[in-house]
Parts: sequence; C-alpha cells; structure tokens
Amino acid sequence: MTLRLGGFVPWSGIDYPGRQAAVAFVSGCPWRCPYCHNSHLWAPQATISWGRVRSFLETRQGLLDALVISGGEPLAQAAGVAAALVEARDLGFAAGLHTAGVSPRRLAGLLPVLDWVGLDIKTAFGHYPAITGRAGTGTAARAAARLVIESGTPYELRTTVHPELISEHELVTMVAELATLGATALTLKGFRPTGCPSARLNTHYRPWLTSTLAQTLREIMPAIVLPDP
Ligand code: SF4
Repeated sequence: MTLRLGGFVPWSGIDYPGRQAAVAFVSGCPWRCPYCHNSHLWAPQATISWGRVRSFLETRQGLLDALVISGGEPLAQAAGVAAALVEARDLGFAAGLHTAGVSPRRLAGLLPVLDWVGLDIKTAFGHYPAITGRAGTGTAARAAARLVIESGTPYELRTTVHPELISEHELVTMVAELATLGATALTLKGFRPTGCPSARLNTHYRPWLTSTLAQTLREIMPAIVLPDP
C-alpha cells in the first residue's frame, strides 16, 4: 500500500465525536488556505509508515474505538487511505475521515468504507478561491458537501472563521447554501494561530460574532453551533 503519512497521534478524544480515536495525518494538500494549522504537511513526505500505525492499532483493539485519517488532505491519497481504513475496520475500529472535499469523485469512492466524515467548509462556495488559492475549488466543495449530506454516513460540517478571510455576508451566504443542500447543522470555530504560516492572520484576528449575526445564522440553521462571542 502506498500511503505517505506525516504524523500520528495515538489517542484523541476530539477528532471523532464520542469516540476515542487514533489519528493518522496524510501529508500533501493541493490547496493553500492561509490559516492552515497543518502547513507543515503541505509537502508530500513520509515520516511514519502505515505498517507502524497498523502495528500500534493491533495493540489497542478493545481500547480505542476508531482510526481517523486527517491531513494534509486525505483525498490526495484516496487509494492508500481507503486500503488503510479497510484494514482498520477489519481490526474492529470505526473509520473516520477529515477532509476539505478537494475531490468529490474520490470522496464518493471512499464513503462506503467510512463510519464518520468531518468535512471542512471554507466559505460561501463562490468565494472558495479567495481562501484556498485554487480555481474551481468551490465547485468541488459544493459537490463534496452534497455527497456527504446525502450519503447517510454520519458527518460533521465545520468552518474556521477569520474575519480577514470571510465577511459576514459570506458567512450568511455559506450557511444558507448548506441549508439548501439539506444540512441541518454546522459548527463555526474561531481561528487559532497554532501552526498558521501567515503572520498577518496571526496578528489581525478580532472578535467577529455579533449578537445580530448569531441571530441571523440561527434563523437560517437553528442547530448551528457557534463559538462564544
Ligand atoms: S485544505 Fe486543509 S490541509 Fe489543505 S491547506 Fe486548507 S486547511 Fe490546510
């Protein structure tokens, strides 16, 4: 199996809702979000083998619930990710995936072996290139969101908000677009400077969630999860 992993966390209580998970980080990502906190994984290099991860999992059967593949961008190595997740499931672990949905075609191929998906939504679909630095990314993200929402696989949609990158209008548009696709929940998270390669973003973060904006977002999507103002 070819799978370039750039990191591994043997235990996490926050990467798969309600499950104790090990997390393997795929290296390589075709997008360039300026707030990325895993920018050290942009280059496709391997620092840990799948064999070592698998050996670890074999010692944790009955002790951990799940394996989550994160990144970087797992869809950049979809074949290797699928093979790894099948092996993890055969060992008795639930299979989770963190993705930005860079390739809806590859995501569609992975969904049958997934027990849970965490899909990052960057902004309103028409504004994606302003964050990802890549043309056509909003089209891919919309198709990926539709796939996940309609898949029947448990999922979480989540968005990192930095007011320098996403305006109130774009936030409202994004939530409305997701509601139109059938999403009933979305988790908004404030930007964290950890690992972010942009000095400007690190120094220009400011509170962005007003009570008026919170009310507007809840009117569109009542179950939306908002951070503390
Ligand atoms: S898609 Fe994810 S891993 Fe890739 S640059 Fe954006 S935040 Fe980083």
